[in-house]
Amino acid sequence: TQPVYHEEDTNPEYLADETVAVLGYGSQGHAHAQNLNESGVDVVVGLREGSASRAAATEDGLRVETPTDAAAEADVVSILVPDTVQPDVYAQIEDELEEGDTLQFAHGFNIHYGQIEPKSGIDVTMVAPKSPGHLVRRNYEAGEGTPGLVAVYQDETGDAKEQALAYANAIGCARAGVIQTTFKEETETDLFGEQAVLCGGATALVKTGYEVLVDAGYSPEMAYFEVLNELKLIVDLMYEGGLAEMWDSVSDTAEFGGLTRGDVVVDEQARENMEEVLEQVQNGEFAQEWILENQANRPKYNQLYERERNHDIEEVGERLRELFEWADEETESEDERVEV
Ligand code: NDP
Ligand code: MG
Ligand code: MG
Repeated sequence: TQPVYHEEDTNPEYLADETVAVLGYGSQGHAHAQNLNESGVDVVVGLREGSASRAAATEDGLRVETPTDAAAEADVVSILVPDTVQPDVYAQIEDELEEGDTLQFAHGFNIHYGQIEPKSGIDVTMVAPKSPGHLVRRNYEAGEGTPGLVAVYQDETGDAKEQALAYANAIGCARAGVIQTTFKEETETDLFGEQAVLCGGATALVKTGYEVLVDAGYSPEMAYFEVLNELKLIVDLMYEGGLAEMWDSVSDTAEFGGLTRGDVVVDEQARENMEEVLEQVQNGEFAQEWILENQANRPKYNQLYERERNHDIEEVGERLRELFEWADEETESEDERVEV
């Protein structure tokens, strides 16, 4: 089993005399920059001229430079712009990275799939909170932690891991616990998880369940509640106490029905389909498709985005969420996107 690191396993000295450049001030960037700053680390935010994020970073009391200037003065450069623009941003800052500096990521895609080939002489690490940035920030402010991962791709100084752990501690992750992994493992499991289970699998299960009920003549409102709304309650129980807590909390009828019918829905064929999805992550086919899709200005992405938003369940859901109480409480702010 993997070791889990906590605060006492980290040493702030590894960042004590360092300047950290946080490139990007979005979901992760704003959280890392502010948490580092409040943990006593010298931080400079790197944003392009005219960037919409500049005002926010300045208002939060942080110093802002261009990505190139920020990287020039920093010892650690944390790349927290969208994965699709990271190769571009890396090209802008590569010359500023000196012997012994650190290039740090929060996700391994560009390194693992060779979209960024880091120069030699520098450390290359990853500190990846397993949560959207807004929670990383909120937890830190509340004195709590956010679970995270650390990985080392290139260790020129011999201190790469210690420094990554110090960073993980400074943004609050070590309060909760930090697991060591590799760029390969983080990238492949992250992509598989979001495709097969979390984002792709869960939405497909919900939409298909909804369609089967409505096609059989049941009301869309009932279908919405059964297959979408209640899903949160089931997931909350699994989150708290694993599958067992969920099974113990539902009726015996639901338990017997679920245990006998679950494998009928997600059958051997579905398993083979999942294995195929994993294979395309492992052999780089998915990465290649996504890179080409971006180069072509996302034709398929835009089409699927439209189709998803026009699904009947969205219209029913919008109507129902307005009529019931839970929506206000549970709806998170628009920019609180979840990267999984
Ligand atoms: P965001 O999409 O929130 O990043 C937006 C920021 O990037 C803005 O400040 C934006 O500034 C800047 N930016 C966008 N395009 C450019 C560009 N061409 N040049 C310079 N700056 C640019 O990113 P995330 O925080 O979602 O993701 C950052 C990294 O963290 C990724 O590697 C992601 O995989 C990883 N990650 C994300 C998680 C999440 O919860 N979102 C969770 C764990 C990891 P501007 O105003 O100029 O557009
Ligand atoms: Mg029920
Ligand atoms: Mg992801």
